[in-house]
Amino acid sequence: MTPFAGDLFDGLTSRAHPVVARLEAGRLRVDGEEIALDVPLDQIELAPPVGAARGLIRLPGGQELHSGDAAALAELAHALPGHSPERWAYRLEGRLLYAIAALIVSIIVVFAGLRWGVPAAAQVAAHTLPPVLETRIGSESLALMEKFSLEPSKLPAARQQALTRQLAEHCRRQACPPYRLLFRNSPMFGPNAMALPGGTVIVTDALVKLSRHDEEVLAVMAHELGHVRHRHSLRLALQSIGAGAILVAITGDIGSITDIAAGLPSLLLQSGYSRDMEREADAYALGWLQTACIPPSRFADILGRLDRTPSDTGLLDSHPGSRERAQPFRVAPDC
Ligand SMILES: [Zn+2]
Repeated sequence: MTPFAGDLFDGLTSRAHPVVARLEAGRLRVDGEEIALDVPLDQIELAPPVGAARGLIRLPGGQELHSGDAAALAELAHALPGHSPERWAYRLEGRLLYAIAALIVSIIVVFAGLRWGVPAAAQVAAHTLPPVLETRIGSESLALMEKFSLEPSKLPAARQQALTRQLAEHCRRQACPPYRLLFRNSPMFGPNAMALPGGTVIVTDALVKLSRHDEEVLAVMAHELGHVRHRHSLRLALQSIGAGAILVAITGDIGSITDIAAGLPSLLLQSGYSRDMEREADAYALGWLQTACIPPSRFADILGRLDRTPSDTGLLDSHPGSRERAQPFRVAPDC
């Protein structure tokens, strides 16, 4: 190692003593006027240079050697025994590359937190929230929607009862999540169906009118039961309030429940479910239809018709990639 210059402070006075130091046979030799130190490396502590400040080598007896020779200090850091934190800190702080890498890692962690962390927290919360709170979020959302966007159904009572009975019969023969089926008229929603937290499934009059077969309506209901089964609307509502508020919500702040409920109707209208959620609900519907011996193509048929229906605010028809989504239902075998 080439000798490097520095200033020695004896720990007693503030006076700097110019010295030259070098590594020699596993020891640090420090020489200056009336100074001759020979220190084993395991008695040395190295504090790396921070910014423009000089590096600092702590020696026994409270003495310190200050040096601005970064290359020499780096070499010394490598020579120190073991992986001391000082050594690592030195390497990390001394290299711009590591600083940039750390910045990139930080950005990725924050991004991942928002992209996956919040949805993951919402998913966990959605499955740990007491059912009574979930039901309450659903009923408060429904109350808001009935105030602003839903009217009583104008479908004949017999028609409503027939569809309700058919769904109930299928759900007796296969496991459906607990649900409550409602028919509502809604000029705002158009031909549509939606699932609220707690299992309320709303089917609009326009959707029933758009269908050419009851099995098409049942197929849409099955898709909504998929959303119920996976608690998608609750997850959507929880995601919108962020990770911190999710924690508050699951620890039982009732006030935040009302906020969640208030935000859900517009969330369902504006952003809708994610592609992953739609895929989950579609997968559920496909299995459901096959078990019910309803041709899966019924779902593709009504999806295709929804796609051609002009509507600003559709939930089903705003679902992404209708044609792509319909494909598995077209190719799936009937029972
Ligand atoms: Zn959906």
